[in-house]
Amino acid sequence: MSPVMTNEQTETRHIDVLDHGFVELVDALGSDLTVVNSARVSFGKRKTELSEGDKKLIKFLADHKHWSPFRHVQLQFHCKVPEFVARQWYKHVVGIAYSEMPTVDHAWNEVSLRYVNASEFDFYTPDGFRTQSDDNKQASTNVCVSDPDGKLKTAYDTHCDNSLKLYQNLIESGVAREQARGVLPLSIYTEYYWTASLQALVNFIKLRQHPGAQYEIREFADALEKLTQQVVPTSYQYLLGVENHS
Ligand SMILES: Cc1cc2nc3c(=O)[nH]c(=O)nc-3n(C[C@H](O)[C@H](O)[C@H](O)COP(=O)(O)OP(=O)(O)OC[C@H]3O[C@@H](n4cnc5c(N)ncnc54)[C@H](O)[C@@H]3O)c2cc1C
Repeated sequence: MSPVMTNEQTETRHIDVLDHGFVELVDALGSDLTVVNSARVSFGKRKTELSEGDKKLIKFLADHKHWSPFRHVQLQFHCKVPEFVARQWYKHVVGIAYSEMPTVDHAWNEVSLRYVNASEFDFYTPDGFRTQSDDNKQASTNVCVSDPDGKLKTAYDTHCDNSLKLYQNLIESGVAREQARGVLPLSIYTEYYWTASLQALVNFIKLRQHPGAQYEIREFADALEKLTQQVVPTSYQYLLGVENHS
């Protein structure tokens, strides 16, 4: 796999997200030219440099929902996210698809709390606690609950600390890691490698940048967008412009 980026661009492969999270572009297969050549093989043609005509072709492919050329581009990310974000992320089951039909063989490998002791893990603490939305049952507002003395934040942090103490107590009492982890809160960070095709990535970013998506996963979608734009600027631009690409 050979990322098509300049030295300057490779320095922005890692983007910090929230208080302890990040998204890092580990590897990339393909470029805008990959999309072009995957389409032009129909005519027995192969390009070595991206021309203005090729950019128009990419736009045509995106506008007419010819997705398969975009699936030859694959990006691999190392992600560190709160557990509740990972649960939302994992709903996107279509990642790698070389065929015309969607497949569920997306690549996901995650740290396992059956192997690893959780005491080294971080917990996510939000900057503020948002109020519940009145018109969207699953959403929050941009307004934070009043917490002038920081009592809510302290209670939140104390709960996380106490859950970790209980976890350690269980471990020291001989309880298996796979059971002791049951007392840990959803704010605990997890890490995984995730590989997705460009089509799947754009689907993820569009759904998770939407204002209806949770703030925390929107932050990760923004990071994915920046890293993806570095690899395939033209394809990303035109794919994002398509309203419904499913
Ligand atoms: C704001 C928001 C709120 C959500 N709330 C909830 C919730 O409350 N509960 C919940 O369970 N989920 C929820 N979800 C998750 C949502 O239902 C989807 O599972 C998730 O967004 C993944 O989207 P997807 O199916 O497009 O992605 P993928 O599974 O990655 O699929 C990508 C694309 O492949 C195609 N595809 C996938 N599978 C098939 C198939 N079998 N046949 C044909 N084509 C296929 C579709 O075009 C699809 O868009 C929410 C998502 C968002 C964005």
